[in-house]
Formats: sequence, structure tokens, C-alpha cells
Amino acid sequence: MTTVATGLTSAQRDLIGFLIDEALRDPVELERRWLNAAAFVRDRAKSGQLVLLREWTQTTVITRNGDVLVVDTEEGAPDRPATQAERYLALFHSIRQFPELLSLLPPRPAGASDCPDCLGTGLHREVLSNPVLRSVSCRCGGAGWISLPGSGADAE
Ligand SMILES: [Zn+2]
Repeated sequence: MTTVATGLTSAQRDLIGFLIDEALRDPVELERRWLNAAAFVRDRAKSGQLVLLREWTQTTVITRNGDVLVVDTEEGAPDRPATQAERYLALFHSIRQFPELLSLLPPRPAGASDCPDCLGTGLHREVLSNPVLRSVSCRCGGAGWISLPGSGADAE
């Protein structure tokens, strides 16, 4: 599989490895973080992957060396490298389970604009008046900024 350079330091890769190992050896901690998804996350950890984000048909993981991959959980297609949009979305969401990964979040680029849908907060404005939408992601992925006009943090 071809992967791009992750840009992670060896200390950050050590941190990811630690969290994968912890998922394997500490079921109580894993359940605290993931509730009823703990068994799934543990299975991915057995494959050397730390789950960042679970969605209906796919799961985004990070490997011990920092590659962010998309795992197809519906059709069973081979794992593939995440797009930049998927990478950003997964990393920003991962903070809910793994606040330790804060240093992996992409910095706001100099030319970025506040996301118009959340006004820079990362939480879509519609959620404030309609809490039923709580689990819907803002197009910025929770970053609060978009890197190109109209494209969201999902700019390739
Ligand atoms: Zn937003």
C-alpha cells in the first residue's frame, strides 16, 4: 500500500502505539472510552490499528506508524489511505475518545476561514436549536475552519 509521509514525530508514533497496546491490555479503560464499541476497537487494535472514528459503513483508524486508513465495515473492501477530508474528520472526532491525540490535530492554515456553518466553533449552528442533530458532523469536521472557500476542511 502506498502511503504519504505522516509528518508525525517518533514520540507521537510512540503515543499511538501506547494507546493501541492499552486497548489490548485494559478492557476497563477501553470501555470507558468506547462503551459498547469497545470489542470492535479491541479487534482493530489486534490488527495494529487505533480506531479514530466509527461511521455507518466505514471506520477510520491510525496505524502505529501514523498512517490513517479507511476500513470498509460494510462490503469488506481492502483498507485504503484516508483522503485529507477523512483524515481531518477522523482526527477531530478522535479527541472525544482520545484527548491524548490533541497534538496530532492539523493546525489552522494561515489562509483558512472560519467555517460558515458553525461560525468557528466546530459544532453546526443547527444543533443548538435542534439537539436531535447532535451527532451530525459539521462540514469542517469540527475544526471550526475551512482551508479553501466553500470546500470545508475537506479540501484535497
Ligand atoms: Zn464547521
